[in-house]
Amino acid sequence: MIEIKNGEQIDRMAAACEVAGLLLNELHSFIEPGMSTKDIDRKVEQFIIDHGQVPAFKGYDGFPGSACVSVNEEIIHGIPSKKKKLKEGDIVKVDLGTVFKGYYSDCARTYPVGKVTEENARLIKVAEESFFEGIKYARKGFRIGDISHAIQSCVEAAGFSVIRDYVGHGIGRDMHEDPPVPNYGKPDHGPRLVPGMCLAIEPMIAAGKYQVNVLENGWTVVTADGSNTAHYENTVVITDGEPRILTCFDRDMNA
Ligand code: MG
Repeated sequence: MIEIKNGEQIDRMAAACEVAGLLLNELHSFIEPGMSTKDIDRKVEQFIIDHGQVPAFKGYDGFPGSACVSVNEEIIHGIPSKKKKLKEGDIVKVDLGTVFKGYYSDCARTYPVGKVTEENARLIKVAEESFFEGIKYARKGFRIGDISHAIQSCVEAAGFSVIRDYVGHGIGRDMHEDPPVPNYGKPDHGPRLVPGMCLAIEPMIAAGKYQVNVLENGWTVVTADGSNTAHYENTVVITDGEPRILTCFDRDMNA
């Protein structure tokens, strides 16, 4: 069942999302070669606690970190580790969420570590661009498939592929609610969008093929062909007009 949020519920989500979005911004200048993925996790946890909120990922289904930190061919659910050090040229995905007064935020970015190859830079950019193509359809009257199709078209036109096994989702009192929001699909299919729907829209893309494996730790998802990946996610509210992107503070929306 898709839960439609009222104004008060959306206010709580916006407060959760503000902390998460500002934290994503901080990480742009924080991440550098030589640090471990655990260093990023510590920073994330401290920032959330300092802002009076609760790290949503910690303990969620038993996940050990406050952020998922996934490097290169790892797409999502990377477990922070002191042993995993970032090297110049890596691309690192940080996926994080907070809880405020019972409501969740969920968002992710892909960061270059030092100087990266042109292809890696393009992969990061296309993940972001495909999100913004998708949300052109995150409006009253369109359907989930319209968002999905726009994302897929953008990614595939750039020569990359869209991960199939993991998808975006509704969000609110739980981190994962209905409806699923795939990053591939057909226009004019799926649930119709109505004001008050809250969605985590999150293109996950690979430079190579979309098939994936889960590592032995039971969490970390990697591409089967070892190709690099990028992830870009925001929590979005459907309104009577323009969608509200609650977790995005690093882009000029009028650009
Ligand atoms: Mg998500």
